[in-house]
Amino acid sequence: MRRVLLIFIDGLGMGDNDPAANPLVRFDPPYFRTLFGKPLVRDLGCVLSDNTCLVPTDASLGIPGLPQSATGQTAIFTGVNAPRHMGCHILGFPGPELAGIIAANGIMRELAAAGMSVTSANMYTTDYMELVARRKRRHSVTTLTILGAGAPLRSLAEMAAGEAVYQDITNEMLPRFGVEGVPPVSPAEAGRRLASLAARHRFTMFEYFQTDRQGHKNDWTEAAKIVATLDGFLTAVHEAAKDILVLITSDHGNFEDFTTKTHTLNPVPTILFGPGCREAAAAIRRLTDIKPAIVAYLKEGEEND
Ligand SMILES: [Zn+2]
Repeated sequence: MRRVLLIFIDGLGMGDNDPAANPLVRFDPPYFRTLFGKPLVRDLGCVLSDNTCLVPTDASLGIPGLPQSATGQTAIFTGVNAPRHMGCHILGFPGPELAGIIAANGIMRELAAAGMSVTSANMYTTDYMELVARRKRRHSVTTLTILGAGAPLRSLAEMAAGEAVYQDITNEMLPRFGVEGVPPVSPAEAGRRLASLAARHRFTMFEYFQTDRQGHKNDWTEAAKIVATLDGFLTAVHEAAKDILVLITSDHGNFEDFTTKTHTLNPVPTILFGPGCREAAAAIRRLTDIKPAIVAYLKEGEEND
């Protein structure tokens, strides 16, 4: 049975091969070097193989200006050219119009309607759940994508059972949000937990956004930690995810260029591995291609089963 795991990393582009500007070059994590023979930089270009593929993916979508989160993430999770629809790139959290696009076209809703089990691995805190219940805040694109499918948000109970991953991967940020007593997990253990969830659902997604946060701050000490965390996490996912098509992608550049605190015009890396990765990679050029590639892969599998 075909399964997909989508790992969304906010604000991760393919930048210059320059250790003075790019944390992915300065800290040169083994994961990307092992896969591609060098750091994850723009001049790698497109890599297609039966094992692992890399597609430099256009995040601008034909609209001038710097790509932003609300429209870019909507493009990934719905396949709709949201910046074109809105006439510009929109930052932060989606307003009512983008929320409507997500409600109608969200990937989890579409797959769930086709009878597939879908889930998000992200854990939400109790405070956040209460805000959700009272509709007191604007949700991220990913949260709207989950809620639009009627899928439950994972909570502290799932975390305690090893069945969730917090947005920072290691749980170290939880006390900052008033949540005490949750043991930290290593990036590798978090990666194994994510792969385990992905093995039990047709479609699983996970969102990490500390890359975007630090890309806006340009803090090299924090960047080193983020690179190390992602390295351990992605290495473990890669080793543990068996017979699962895994896609790692982003909504816009940012973290790859510490000479600026804004987003960038760089392409974002879409990394694919697992069964069918070459075929799926060949269908991806822009952010809007990711959802259709996943849906086609999963639905084609249904017909052949
Ligand atoms: Zn940002």
